[in-house]
Amino acid sequence: MSLLDIAGIAVSPDHYIAGQRVASAERFALHSPIDQRPLGHISEGLAEHVEAAIVAAQHAFPAWSALTAAERKPYLDRFADEIGKRADAFCLLESNDAGVLLSRMRHGVVPRAMLNIRWFAEHALTLQDRPIETEQATHLVRHDPAGVVVVITPWNAPLMLSTWKLGPALAAGNCCILKPPEWAPLTCSLLADAAHAAGLTPGVFNVVQGTGANTGARLVSDARIARVSFTGSVPTAKWIAQAAGANLVPCSLELGGKSPFIVLPDADLEQAAATGALMYRNAGQVCLAGTRFLVHAQVAEAFIAAMRAHVEKLNVGDPREEATEVGPIIHPRQLERVAGFVERAVAAGARVLWGGARHAFGAQYYQPTMLADVAQGSEIVQNEVFGPVLTLQTFASDDEAVLLANGTDYGLGGVCYGETAHATEVAQRVRTGFIWVNSFGIRDLAAPFGGIKRSGIGREGGDWSFEFFCDVKDVVVPKKPFRASFSHR
Ligand code: NAD
Repeated sequence: MSLLDIAGIAVSPDHYIAGQRVASAERFALHSPIDQRPLGHISEGLAEHVEAAIVAAQHAFPAWSALTAAERKPYLDRFADEIGKRADAFCLLESNDAGVLLSRMRHGVVPRAMLNIRWFAEHALTLQDRPIETEQATHLVRHDPAGVVVVITPWNAPLMLSTWKLGPALAAGNCCILKPPEWAPLTCSLLADAAHAAGLTPGVFNVVQGTGANTGARLVSDARIARVSFTGSVPTAKWIAQAAGANLVPCSLELGGKSPFIVLPDADLEQAAATGALMYRNAGQVCLAGTRFLVHAQVAEAFIAAMRAHVEKLNVGDPREEATEVGPIIHPRQLERVAGFVERAVAAGARVLWGGARHAFGAQYYQPTMLADVAQGSEIVQNEVFGPVLTLQTFASDDEAVLLANGTDYGLGGVCYGETAHATEVAQRVRTGFIWVNSFGIRDLAAPFGGIKRSGIGREGGDWSFEFFCDVKDVVVPKKPFRASFSHR
């Protein structure tokens, strides 16, 4: 079986089904977003591979689900250990195929991927029967694994998002099929190596590579699937919800955002501006970034100057370099999409505060951009760009800030800077799944994560992940002898 050589790291381009690497006759080309160099060809999951993966997962399910959480934990701890042993390889692969900063992979993503597996394995121990005692009966509330789970992830954070779903799904006793993103499939392939080395029973964890419209669509349309856990865009989610809905298969949908970044007049402008520049992280290809800056008119000029100073210092470059802060756009198609948004916004009257064009560093780079004079109803304010392009609007009162913040179909996250009590009060009125007050990106595995409105359905994290990946069952045991009666409630 041939392996790809990516910066000295050997990685399989093939599927991982029932504990074995399986190649496909059909392959698709993969390129690096950094310099467009070819990285190799990846196996496309055809009907036979989807079928084999589902059968393998079904076959493994009875034994894996019969283990207690305590019995599954050592497998998952070893899985996390094996991810750790491959830390350098994970960093290099995702930096090369997704353009994620190597420094971020090393310090943020890989430790978090390990924790995603370890934390849920530990937390699953609390899932054992949770009795509810009443006068009449004991209700043994069980969380039974649902069955075969399909996990589908996007290209902007494949390792982090895949492990964030696999952790709870596996810990709860499900068998999983991961369909990696076709633009950045390599770290998901390496995950299979880690699972294999950890001794996970064949079929418990499978990877079927392939494109969304072909492989992904087949997987989510199959009636033998118990759950679909999806992170990606709104149009794909609508398609998946329909396909899975035809079989009444529950879906968890973590989707895009157009989150507000509110700067109140009593905000620490320097702190807000420093955090504001972080929105260009991963070249703005971050679902939870605050992309609509809503700034009180009184402080707008000072805030713009402060943020401009931070943006001018951003180091745009090769994500494999330690000092780089902003890397490439994932794909030429995505770059065209980003550039198109800016061109149309400018044609409609937007004023470019900074950026507004491709970046000289490389063909797939775009300048960190801020657009002002944008109408609330305009395309650039209403639609997710998923690139380094932000908008800035001003407001005159809290009510107006909240009105603008809530004035899109999205509802993922938000950021609110201001005097703490004031910012907290405004933050509570913003209709999103989460919002950070005077901060950004603080997340805990125990806390709920997810969006409302077009940003998604369901919550991940802590107990919420287990609620999704489990069938909740009430085993009712009466405390007194039960006397059958037709008048009984
Ligand atoms: P996408 O929807 O195009 O693809 C996501 C995944 O779905 C890929 O693996 C793709 O192959 C697969 N897919 C595509 N069509 C499919 C189909 N018909 N059936 C089954 N699977 C299919 O999204 P993308 O461009 O890869 O990712 C960017 C989007 O993801 C943005 O909208 C971003 O906001 C969102 N995102 C959301 C979160 C979150 O947690 N809310 C996190 C990261 C990214």
